Amino acid sequence: MHVVFTAMDSETNRRPKRGQSAKLDPKKNQSLQEAVIRDWNHYRETSDTIVDRYFRGMEVVRTLCKCGMAQVTVNPFLFLSLAITESTRTLNDLLQLNYRSEILDSYKCDGCSATGTSTRTTWIGRLPEVIIIQLLRFRVEDKVTKKMTQRIEFAIEELDFEPFYIPTNERSFGTESPEDSAWGQRFKYRIYGIVVHMGNTADSGHYWSFVRRADPEKGTPVWYEFNDARVRRLGTDSEFTKRYLRDVWKNGDRVPYVLFLQRVKEQSK
Ligand SMILES: [Zn+2]
Repeated sequence: MHVVFTAMDSETNRRPKRGQSAKLDPKKNQSLQEAVIRDWNHYRETSDTIVDRYFRGMEVVRTLCKCGMAQVTVNPFLFLSLAITESTRTLNDLLQLNYRSEILDSYKCDGCSATGTSTRTTWIGRLPEVIIIQLLRFRVEDKVTKKMTQRIEFAIEELDFEPFYIPTNERSFGTESPEDSAWGQRFKYRIYGIVVHMGNTADSGHYWSFVRRADPEKGTPVWYEFNDARVRRLGTDSEFTKRYLRDVWKNGDRVPYVLFLQRVKEQSK
């Protein structure tokens, strides 16, 4: 899948010849949101692809010392890769683990030269139209790849990303003008695609998928299963959740591996 996205990215770039421009110098007193929009606008000067428009998000990482010294870096992402551990049970657990703050025990602050006084936090700073979540289920232990087959619960109803977005007091746009509506107003997403993996290693076994789309006759959303040449109509959201989604977990080596989420158009509150 990485291969497909890389090809689509370079094939559809409408600004390919401008080359990579220099890294931005940090600006004083900017909010985290302003830093992200600034970086995004800068990035977009050399990249305008289908992947950028629909799938590319941005994360912002801040290392903050007790003395007030802060370092901020902004990174684009295409997949949110979430690690599964023994204690994670839900998709929300995985997101919380990924976006938790951690104290950096051996990090030395540039400002006050103290060690172990800095905290690093990552937030989402740009939410794309489609979020792709990869559940990291493969772990190498003693040179043996182990698949974490435990059940991770998720709802196909709305999922709120606001708790993982930069905090409200850091959301000012400053002097930056965002080019689209991806900035901090609509946080609700809904799963519309699930790739399931069966087998023991990432490069073996079998992949197939469930996709939610409008029923051609009734217009209401219906789930379909795409398994090689076989396409099967599964039913409405509640039928899919009650029967098929539950069934996926019955056998330990069959597990959801990649989730596709689309921004919800109308917010429910
Ligand atoms: Zn310091």
